[in-house]
Amino acid sequence: MADDHWDPGRIDALRQRLLGWYATSRRDLPWRWSRDPYAIWVSEIMLQQTRVAVVVERYQAFLQRFPTLLALALAPEQEVLAMWSGLGYYRRARMLHKAARFVADRLKGNLPATAEELRVLPGIGAYTASAIASIAHGERVAVVDGNVERVLCRVEGWDAESRKGGAALKRRVDALAAQILDPLRPGDFNQALMELGATVCLPRKPLCLTCPLAADCTTRGEHKTAPRPRMLSREIARALCVRKAFDAPGAQKKDGAEVLLERRPVELTVMPGMWELPALREATVPERELLMTVRHAIMQVNYYVRVCSVGEKDVDALTVVGGERRWMLLAEAAQTALTGLTRKVLARAHLLPAPLDGSLGGALARRPGKDVA
Ligand code: SF4
Repeated sequence: MADDHWDPGRIDALRQRLLGWYATSRRDLPWRWSRDPYAIWVSEIMLQQTRVAVVVERYQAFLQRFPTLLALALAPEQEVLAMWSGLGYYRRARMLHKAARFVADRLKGNLPATAEELRVLPGIGAYTASAIASIAHGERVAVVDGNVERVLCRVEGWDAESRKGGAALKRRVDALAAQILDPLRPGDFNQALMELGATVCLPRKPLCLTCPLAADCTTRGEHKTAPRPRMLSREIARALCVRKAFDAPGAQKKDGAEVLLERRPVELTVMPGMWELPALREATVPERELLMTVRHAIMQVNYYVRVCSVGEKDVDALTVVGGERRWMLLAEAAQTALTGLTRKVLARAHLLPAPLDGSLGGALARRPGKDVA
């Protein structure tokens, strides 16, 4: 292996430039206001595979509902999933909940403080453990996410795109990250390097002219990331069945209406147990019956969802039963673990409040990573 040893003067200069840039240029994000390990843990899990703008909104609501690890541990899973709605990758929410219960039951509610101990918890890998330990407790451990890997590979001129390097390249990046880590401010240093990758050393158009590491960088924009694979398209159709709720047992006048929802079987690997609108038998809905068309991205697929309004008496004839069905009061639906698509359709139909992240617009999020268990 090549000698990747940096001399101390170069490391000092890099630390100063990077931390100086971070002090003036970092985004004001709510998880940066806190040193609470639980709050940092929640943010790190949410930020995996979800856009920062979406996380900002959901993070604050999630912490209002579950302000402590114990509050999260005591909550029913369905409620945790409901609060996770719109973030996608629901497995993360299940694992976070499971880990909170583990800490509450087995560790007397004390979240471990070191990266090594944190890794024992369900759903916490090396990256998350190092992030929590360095940011919340100042442990001297480097955090290497995709952003950090891209920055360091570009600084050193290592080809991260070909994947030929594999495990050897990963070890090299980890070793360099550990070598340059600021021992006095490891949490800030880790966040600064991640922030640089997220806002300056961008995958396709790195902003090298404003980069604090330009003097250290051997590639300066020549290493670009390969374009994303093309998104596939698929058409599906859903039924929106709504009825007055005044006669329903337990309904109050303010509830107004009930919507027919179907629970995805718990054996499924994708969004098990979550509630969604029934599927129409025919994916091609006649134009005159169409209520709306919604585009919804899941992984590498853009779903073009045609939503049709279906009356109660026609539901059985027009839809395919895929799981347990229930007429649910809208007030209850708002607190239920709905799929992101279902919540989006109900919000666009003005049956549920619109999410504040702007995801209801015509151009829905293209980014992969929405709504996957
Ligand atoms: S100089 Fe350009 S390529 Fe190098 S680290 Fe900075 S932004 Fe990335």
